[in-house]
Amino acid sequence: MSSSTIDFDIKEVAQSKINEVDFNHIEFGKVYSDHMFAAEYEDGEWKNFRIEPYGDLSISPANATLHYAQSVFEGLKAYKDDQGAIRIFRPDANAKRMVISAERMCIPPIPEDLFMEALTELLKLDAAWIPTRPDTSLYIRPVIFANDPYVGIRPSMTYKFLIFTGPVGAYYSEPVNVKIEKKYTRAASGGVGFAKTAGNYAASLYPAMEALKEGYHQLIWTDGKEHEYIEEAGTMNLLFYINDTLITAPAGDSILNGITKDSVLTLARDWGMKVEERRLTVTELIAALEAGTVQEAFGAGTAATISKIKMIGNEGKQYQLPTETPLADKLFSELDDIKMGRKPDPHGWVFTL
Ligand SMILES: *Cc1c(COP(=O)(O)O)cnc(C)c1O
Repeated sequence: MSSSTIDFDIKEVAQSKINEVDFNHIEFGKVYSDHMFAAEYEDGEWKNFRIEPYGDLSISPANATLHYAQSVFEGLKAYKDDQGAIRIFRPDANAKRMVISAERMCIPPIPEDLFMEALTELLKLDAAWIPTRPDTSLYIRPVIFANDPYVGIRPSMTYKFLIFTGPVGAYYSEPVNVKIEKKYTRAASGGVGFAKTAGNYAASLYPAMEALKEGYHQLIWTDGKEHEYIEEAGTMNLLFYINDTLITAPAGDSILNGITKDSVLTLARDWGMKVEERRLTVTELIAALEAGTVQEAFGAGTAATISKIKMIGNEGKQYQLPTETPLADKLFSELDDIKMGRKPDPHGWVFTL
């Protein structure tokens, strides 16, 4: 990484909140570290780069994001290894994806080197917040949002960029029940499904709530036109291990191109496995479930890394998956070992500070 080229103003907290945190019981998304990175876009440029105490913002009731969701975000994690070094998993990929998301939403992108420097400085300052117990990490949330106090519809002329962080506990996810969704649509061809943008999640809440009433933890979204092609789960990409072949939907404009999924595919190819990025129909998946050739199915995403699927529901029928999941287990531990520096990192995924 290049040495610092951007001047940051750093305003530290008078008193750290870290002693108020019970690091043995951290609830996801409720505890935030002392500082955040902040910048503004005004007069055609990003400026006011600074680190300041984490805290509430003051915004206009007419704030464009509140009304029209012109915003993008990212999610990634940092770890502390046994030597106390800070390790961040593939932050360059998040920086790149944020540019792609921003362009689709008419948001002036954050240059990748600025993203990396901001993140580096912030993590150095709040290094004490990175938990060290097994399977814990520091969750990092970058966000850019429109900031014009204007309720007319047009791309905002001002924006805010923030990065804030918070420790997260061991995220052990129980194997989940998922429902193939054929009524509602997450993202359509030509839409914004590939962008990490607020509206995609708002639109998914109602169908997810309906499915939860039937006992499903997550949805398998299908394409918006025919509801016949498997897409993703809305917070994670989906992979199916069928007949010794690892199959996932190809990147496209209705699917978020996950970094965890990319890492999984890369490892599988390294191991000489058969990998196919191709469209998988519901018909083919159901036939494979009925024939018993689906060996494993799992989601891939930053939150849980690998989230195993134990049951798939389709049109009122439920299909149980094998409880033995050697591939999902091996992928999880390999990624964990690379993140924590217990195994070599041949693809240069980990940034160490
Ligand atoms: C973030 C996200 C994922 C997972 O991406 P990762 O980079 O692996 O965390 C999958 N789907 C959607 C819709 C997402 O927002």
